[in-house]
Amino acid sequence: MSAEIIDGKALAETIRARVADEAKKLGLKPGLAAVLVGDNPASQVYVRNKVKQTEEAGLLSFEHRLPDATPEADLLKLVEKLNADPSVHGILVQLPLPDHIDPDLVIRAIDPMKDVDGFHPLNVGRLGIGQDSLVPCTPQGCILLAKTVHTSLEGLDAVVLGRSNIVGKPVAQLLIQESATVTVAHSKTRDLDEVCARADLLVAAVGRAELVKRHWIKPGATVIDVGINRVAGSVPGKTKLVGDVAFADCSEVAGAITPVPGGVGPMTIACLLANTLKAACWAAGKPAPRF
Ligand code: NAD
Repeated sequence: MSAEIIDGKALAETIRARVADEAKKLGLKPGLAAVLVGDNPASQVYVRNKVKQTEEAGLLSFEHRLPDATPEADLLKLVEKLNADPSVHGILVQLPLPDHIDPDLVIRAIDPMKDVDGFHPLNVGRLGIGQDSLVPCTPQGCILLAKTVHTSLEGLDAVVLGRSNIVGKPVAQLLIQESATVTVAHSKTRDLDEVCARADLLVAAVGRAELVKRHWIKPGATVIDVGINRVAGSVPGKTKLVGDVAFADCSEVAGAITPVPGGVGPMTIACLLANTLKAACWAAGKPAPRF
């Protein structure tokens, strides 16, 4: 069997086009402020892509680049200023922050109604009790990708591999809301392969290159691979990106699978734009479109 390849690039493009469309109808321009502290190269690339895609979708983009030595108090002041700015509907502070800044303090300082990363404890809590909230972008992307295969996730045996606050736990919460039967597996889980092999839907978010092997996959299962791991490529001195799932082998067993790159990755920014639109709708007192 050869799995259907779930095209995250195409779905992300559809979402961005819809955000652009809905934003035009809103009567105000949703604004996204991205704050980058320091010169982490991966963060620089990520923020650059966010800014580009925000502008392409017709949203306002505000970029704040601060030096590595920025005192925590200055960053908190900037967040306060953005909280009060009516042209800013979404605020994201790119993580990781330099060691002298407490990320939890900064996240808690963001207005929960503008917290488009969905990391503020209030949004985390709302997600946990099933209230409308700003939901973390990558987990939201995983659910939308799974729904391209299954019109409903109800009753599916879902296994989430990984329990981080930014991916594993929110994916599990979203799957519970979708009425899947959810198992969260992690580094201390016994018989990991057997646990995963029970899954109709497997979401892998561990950050371990090609950890998930062919025999971990139930025949016909849907596999969402969140992992992004840089490993040595076949050409000496070159590297390549691989997921947490051994793609070539597993795609012979799975029913549908996301590739890396081109699966979950592009969905993150698309969902960030959707969250910014949602926050702008709230600010305008209008209902937010569902994606
Ligand atoms: P993390 O390191 O915070 O968490 C990893 C989780 O995996 C932990 O809960 C740990 O218990 C579990 N784990 C680690 N090793 C394991 C093992 N051998 N067996 C079973 N469980 C194990 O990572 P994260 O932030 O959740 O990210 C996970 C992966 O997803 C990374 O590769 C990251 O780069 C990627 N990621 C991608 C996107 C995106 O596509 N936009 C966004 C966020 C994270």
